[in-house]
Formats: sequence, structure tokens, C-alpha cells
Amino acid sequence: MAELIIVGAGVVGLSCAWSAQRRGFQVTLVDRDFEGDRASHGNAGAIAVSECAPLNLSGLGLRPLRWLLDPLGPLAVRASHAPKLLPWFLALRKVAEPANYLRIANALAALNKRSLRDFEAVLADTGMGGDLHKRGALTVYETSQAFSGDAEEWRLKRALGVRWRSVDAAELQALEPNLAPVFQHSVMLEDWAHIDDPQRIVMGLRERVRALGAQFVTGSATSLNLGNASKPAVDLEGGQSVVGDRVVVAGGAWSARLAKTIGDRALLESERGYNTTLPASASLLNREVIFAEHKFVATPLAIGLRIGGAAEFAGLEAAPNYRRSDALLWLARKYLLGLDESNPTQWMGHRPATPDSLPVIGASPKNASVLYAFGHGHLGLTQSATTGELIGNILANEKTPIDMSPYAIERF
Ligand SMILES: Cc1cc2nc3c(=O)[nH]c(=O)nc-3n(C[C@H](O)[C@H](O)[C@H](O)COP(=O)(O)OP(=O)(O)OC[C@H]3O[C@@H](n4cnc5c(N)ncnc54)[C@H](O)[C@@H]3O)c2cc1C
Repeated sequence: MAELIIVGAGVVGLSCAWSAQRRGFQVTLVDRDFEGDRASHGNAGAIAVSECAPLNLSGLGLRPLRWLLDPLGPLAVRASHAPKLLPWFLALRKVAEPANYLRIANALAALNKRSLRDFEAVLADTGMGGDLHKRGALTVYETSQAFSGDAEEWRLKRALGVRWRSVDAAELQALEPNLAPVFQHSVMLEDWAHIDDPQRIVMGLRERVRALGAQFVTGSATSLNLGNASKPAVDLEGGQSVVGDRVVVAGGAWSARLAKTIGDRALLESERGYNTTLPASASLLNREVIFAEHKFVATPLAIGLRIGGAAEFAGLEAAPNYRRSDALLWLARKYLLGLDESNPTQWMGHRPATPDSLPVIGASPKNASVLYAFGHGHLGLTQSATTGELIGNILANEKTPIDMSPYAIERF
């Protein structure tokens, strides 16, 4: 039986494990802390199948500048981190070129089209089908100006197969009676879904792959080692090595460091996001609501209403600034009637962000026994099962159902 080592036991690494096991691989998962916090635990819980427009700051006029000047606005760069961010930021600027923009949007749509179906298959096998709620999502706009500003993006999404429809004020009121009646435009995204609790999904999937025979090694991977033998290895802090036939790097925002140890370059940043979960407000909404102007979302998870968003570039080590969570909650008070704020939990997580919004999925050009599965940014939960399936296809020499070239690490 071929042996596969996977570095990273977030939702992406675990999904790769599950798909590889179905193809007969003996899996060893390496993580520095299997129980510890990670992006996959505290995210907004959306299966955001419509999100195929890449991050692109051009065309927004002075808005990004205004956001940057607002210390608690939706976009922030810590001054000390700015020099390190420069190559990533320069690459982000290229996304705006029309040919790039369309190519990337198509590549995101190709993943997203399959994502709910693939995710449901994982949930069904892990006995968590009941954790998924297919109630769509609503994007709401306070002003016509903001809605018109997004018109092109809505057109593009429809052209790429996303189903959406306008919702009038009366229907919005009927769908979400606890939203303040201040929204001039709303869009229903029919195919979105959300889950009860992202951490529960990670824990359930972890137990499933354990039951299917996965080994768990607790340790911090310091390098990939293609050195001396025919088999690749992962070297751990403290001198231990784990040897297998193939390796998958699925270490979220930390993955580029490992790729670099064998000479592969990826532009990857931590795009830090914040939220607050309010257990007593879990039933205030029926589906996820996206507040377009202020760039935050509220998801009615089973464990509470989770209010979050923000994009903060401050690297992997800086302490969280929970005033960002406070700022999002402050906004939510304005739009959500009857918000019960008792027993709140604040959280920050590292979105593994590439400048072109596309994940890295595929083999290392240095050595085909090493595969990459990271960089899913805002969509790691959504695309987790599909990424697992594509990695499974590659491992088993099966034809992939989509063209994999847009996700190759060589693009950096
Ligand atoms: C505020 C916020 C809201 C979000 N909302 C959504 C959403 O609604 N829908 C959606 O689809 N996505 C969402 N995301 C994005 C999603 O959470 C991430 O893209 C996804 O969780 C990434 O999963 P991952 O497994 O790649 O990384 P992680 O969950 O970060 O896991 C990486 C794992 O690798 C381990 N690791 C890393 N390096 C090493 C090493 N060297 N040695 C050993 N172990 C290592 C870490 O310990 C960790 O366990 C959100 C993210 C944030 C921050």
C-alpha cells in the first residue's frame, strides 16, 4: 500500500486524507497541534459557491485608501509588515488586467461548481449530513450606488453559471424579519449553504480518517527532504523524519515556508480575519447575510450568530487586534434587530491568501512525489472537498475533471 504523508490537519489536509484513503493510500497526518486553533475552526461556515470574482482593488476608486486610513476598517496593513507584503501586493495589481481577471474567475468557478457536491459526499460519509443547511445567502445593499458599483461583478457571476436573483423589500422582510429595514437592494444567492460549526466538521473528519486507518504524528515540520533516498521525507523539529511515497503540503498560511525548502516559490500571505460569535443570537437569521458596503457577514451557526470579516495583513506572528472584532460587532448592532450579545467569543484566523485568489493545487515541479494543497484564502472550507478529490485524482493517476494549470505553483 502506498504511503502518503500530509502536513496539516486543517479542513484541506483532512479532506486530502479522506480522498487518498478512498484510493487505497495509507495516510500519515503531521500537525504541530491536532487540537489547536486554526483557520478551519473559526471561519464563517459558508459554502460560498458563488464567490468566483477574485480580490481586486482597482476599480474601487479611493475606497481602498479610505479603508486603509480607517484603523478599524475592512482592510488594514500593519506598517511593520508592509515591506514584506510588497511582492504579494504587486502581484495582486496584475489581477486587474482583463485577461487575468477572466482567467482567474473561470478557474475559481470551475472549483466552486463542484464544491457543494463534493462537500456533501464527505459529510454523508462522516455522518454529518445534517450539519449542512441549503438556505442560500443574501447580499444586502444600503445604497443604490453600492449596488450599481457591483453590477459588473454580478453580470460576470451570472455568465459563469452563478444563480442569483434580486429580492424586493417585502420579500427581504419575510425572509429575514430581524434585519433592520434599511436595505435598498438585496440579492439572493440560491446555491449557498452554511454549516452548524466549522470546528465540528474538522473534528468529525479527523475522527473519520482516523477510523479509516490514518496515523497521526504530532510535530512541527521544518523541511521537505528529497535528499538521499528514493522516497521523500518530512523533517520535524527535534530531528525526527517521517518517510513516505508521496507528500502533500496542506499547511494553510504556513505552507510557503515548506515549499521553499525544496526551491518552490509561492506568494502566500496571512490575510487575518476576525469575528465574534453570539450564542444567544443563533436564530436571529435564517441564512448567511453579506453586508456589501461594510464587507462583513453574519452566519447563523448552530453555536451562535457569527459576525465577521476584515482583511488584515500583519503576518503570522503579530498578536490579534480584537478591536477589529469589536468594530464588526458595532456595525452589526446597526443592522440586526434584537441582537443578544451575552457570552460573546472573539476569534482571529489566518486565511492562506495568494495574490490571485486561486489556491495552489498540484505537483511540485521539483519532484512529482510532492503535492501542494494550500492557499484557499476566503474559500478553504468551500473548496476543501474538491481540493481533496483533485489531489486524490493526481495521486491515483486519474484524469482530473478540470484543467489544473491555473492552480500550479509554477505561476509564481
Ligand atoms: C474570519 C474567516 C472567515 C472565513 N470564512 C470562510 C467561509 O465562510 N467559507 C470558506 O470556505 N472559507 C472561509 N474562510 C477561509 C477558510 O477558513 C480557510 O481557507 C481554510 O480553513 C484553510 O484551511 P487549511 O486546512 O488550508 O488551513 P488551516 O485550517 O490553517 O490548517 C493548517 C494546518 O496546518 C498545520 N501546519 C502548518 N504548518 C505546519 C508545519 N510546518 N508543521 C506542522 N503542522 C503545520 C497547522 O497547525 C494547521 O493545523 C474564512 C477564514 C477566516 C479567517
